[in-house]
Parts: sequence; structure tokens; C-alpha cells
Amino acid sequence: MKGIQDGVAVVTGGGSGIGRQSSLRFADEGAKVVVADVDADGGHETAEIIESDGGDATFVETDVTDSDDVAAMVQTALDEYGGLDFAHNNAGIAREGSRLADYDEDEWDQMIDVNLKGVWRCLKAEIPEMTERGGGAIVNTSSVAGVSANGSAHYAASKHGVIGLTRRATVDYADDGIRFNAVCPGVIDTPMVQQAGEDNTEELERITAGIPAGRLGDPQEIADTVVWLCSEEASYVMGQPIVIDGGLLVQ
Ligand code: NAP
Repeated sequence: MKGIQDGVAVVTGGGSGIGRQSSLRFADEGAKVVVADVDADGGHETAEIIESDGGDATFVETDVTDSDDVAAMVQTALDEYGGLDFAHNNAGIAREGSRLADYDEDEWDQMIDVNLKGVWRCLKAEIPEMTERGGGAIVNTSSVAGVSANGSAHYAASKHGVIGLTRRATVDYADDGIRFNAVCPGVIDTPMVQQAGEDNTEELERITAGIPAGRLGDPQEIADTVVWLCSEEASYVMGQPIVIDGGLLVQ
């Protein structure tokens, strides 16, 4: 893909699932990758896979609920590779929900802190470096729960919020040459969904049966879109939530 080669990318949640695949895809296209995750084992493993395939990657243990960690993540890109061109702000959690009025405040706050404020913390650290460099491209991971009432209330609220951030950032920073988009995955075969499937096999079978594609998505199918959105081939795509769901939402 045009424009990715020799760039520098950070990927949060890069130690597993979708973030691991986007890290590998950035590296396949010739980018240097800062893999960030709260899970040190998974993050190291992603960086090792890239290095063993001849790419450049550095793991940095990062909790997106901690501003100092997020600042250190961006600093790692500057120290190791001299700048920052691309970011995939992807770290997230999913939790069982309740009806809206039945949440307690702590579980609501935790979801928003990771999935929404975590993306904002990343943007806050990444944008000044990209502005300084003359531009860049950022993809935030939302969900089909960001454009519909799928998912638990606190998860859906967090993922709708990610699209709001993406749109607002587009307006605020277009003049600085930074493009922002969001991916909205459907049900993707990652450890997050595998865990949910183990907890409730029948529910996952029911959901899978309702997907027109007839199967779960592969994390690679999200990663391909993420890296394309960062490439010059997507130069006029700005502020968009891109749904990648095997047709789940069309019916
Ligand atoms: P995953 O396999 O669980 O990967 C998520 C990674 O993020 C894990 O390594 C996780 O570490 C890490 N993480 C969690 N909290 C973090 C934090 N505070 N700071 C830094 N890293 C953190 O999940 P995934 O399916 O790839 O999900 C990636 C993103 O896609 C999430 O934002 C998710 O909401 C979104 N998404 C997924 C699907 C799907 O069907 N899989 C659909 C729509 C949207 P731990 O394992 O230690 O928690």
C-alpha cells in the first residue's frame, strides 16, 4: 500500500487479536511498529514475530488508562524510530452489561476509561507529534456497537464516543494534515470473542447464524482496512466509521 513503507506506527492492544494483526500488517508493508499493550507477554510476542520476519518492532508496556504510559508510548516511537506517522488506537475491553439503570458507577467508569478516554489520551499524545512532523493518519477502533444498539450499554456508549472523537478530530486537525478514521468491526474471531464464546456457546452460535457472511470475521480483515486507511490510497477518506461486519448490520 502506498505511503506506509518506512513510516512509524503505534498500535495499542497490539499484543492480541485485531491489534496484533494490524501490527503485523504495518510491518509487512515496511513500517516500523511500536507495539503497545497492558499484556506484556502478548506484546513481546507480537514484536518478536515481526522481528523474526525481518521487520522492525519495539514493545512498550502501556496501560491506556494511564497518561504517563501513553506519553511514554509515543516517546518510544520518537526515540527508537525518530517520529510518528500512523496510529491504531485499538486497545479495548468488553464486559457483560445490564439494562441501563442497573449499572453501578464503577463498572460504567471502567469501560469509559479504557475504551473512550483511553483513545482520547492516545490522540492527545499522538497529535502534537504528527502536527510537528507535518501530518499523519490515525485509525481508532470502534465497533458495530458504535453505530447501532448492539452490545452492552456501557460498551455501546464508549464505542459511539470513539466515532464522535474521530469526527471532531477530523474537523480540528485537517489543516495539520492528519486524517482520522474509525473501524467498526462486527464479530471477529479474537481472544475477546473466543472468551465470550466459551462463556456462552449458544449465544455465539446464534449470533454467527445471523451474519450474512456465515462466519466470524478474521482479525486480518480488520487489519487490512486499518493499514489501507493509513495509506495514501485512502487520502480522501476522512472522519469515517468503516463498518467491517460480514453484513451483520444490513438486515
Ligand atoms: P483482544 O484480543 O482482547 O485484544 C485486546 C488487547 O488490548 C489485549 O491484549 C488486552 O490486554 C489489551 N488491553 C485491554 N485493556 C488495555 C488497556 N487499558 N491498555 C492497553 N491495552 C489494553 O480483543 P480484540 O477483539 O482484538 O479487540 C480489539 C479492539 O477491537 C477492542 O477495542 C474491541 O472493543 C474492538 N472490537 C472487537 C470486536 C471483536 O469481535 N473481537 C468487535 C468490535 C470491536 P488483556 O488481554 O490483558 O486485557
